[in-house]
Amino acid sequence: MQTREVVEDRLKSFSTKNSEREALIRKRFAESGCKAANLSEQALDRKLPPNVICVLPGETQQVILVGAHTDKVDNVGDGVVDNWTGAVLLTALLDSLGGQLRHHTLIFVGFSGEEKGLVGSQYYVDHLTNAQRAHIEGMVNFDSLGLGPTEVWASHADKALLDALAFVAAASKLPVTAMNVPEGATADSESFVRYGIPRITLHSVTEKSWPILHSPSDKLAAIKMNDYYDSYKLIAAYLAYLDDALKPAWAAKPGKAAQ
Ligand SMILES: [Zn+2]
Repeated sequence: MQTREVVEDRLKSFSTKNSEREALIRKRFAESGCKAANLSEQALDRKLPPNVICVLPGETQQVILVGAHTDKVDNVGDGVVDNWTGAVLLTALLDSLGGQLRHHTLIFVGFSGEEKGLVGSQYYVDHLTNAQRAHIEGMVNFDSLGLGPTEVWASHADKALLDALAFVAAASKLPVTAMNVPEGATADSESFVRYGIPRITLHSVTEKSWPILHSPSDKLAAIKMNDYYDSYKLIAAYLAYLDDALKPAWAAKPGKAAQ
């Protein structure tokens, strides 16, 4: 588990330029131990920065996809809340989860062009093979954390992923509440729905804090660091739990190795 100081320092390391943000995340993945062979960029078919992808190989090819968009909306605010909070958290989660061999292969993706209409996530999922998509057990997305305690977009979440989150929150005594996002708003998790991939988006936005997004108030000062750190702890525990809970039943049976 990373310390609060490290998580806070990373949050402060943002750039306000979309042309620099992906490269910062890529560098941070490398510093967090993502080997060169597992770290890649995916160029898009539009003039946008690439998606950045770090694969943490597990015991199997079954995948938990962990995503957040790296871009900010053009010309307004610093885009710290939306969505440097999510993007840079990917790197701290790699630190938390990379210390031991996991059952699932964890794929961390910083999506480009979310604010242009989910461009990077749509491109990513469209360019997977059917077999690759079939291996994804769940897509866990972070968008705009740190404005307050962790929230979950419950109306657009897979039931099993939602139940697992509630279980982990109760067990770890960290808060999470259901807060749906307003009509018309969306997130990268929705790019995966068309392919039947279970998905969930965690955020921190309430009706009251909603106007901060895409406004000059989207700055570091808007972040409640205690809440952001709680979100990090909850999400790290959640991903570790999902890695176990989403195992197929046969993988948990003793004697598997002998078969
Ligand atoms: Zn966003």
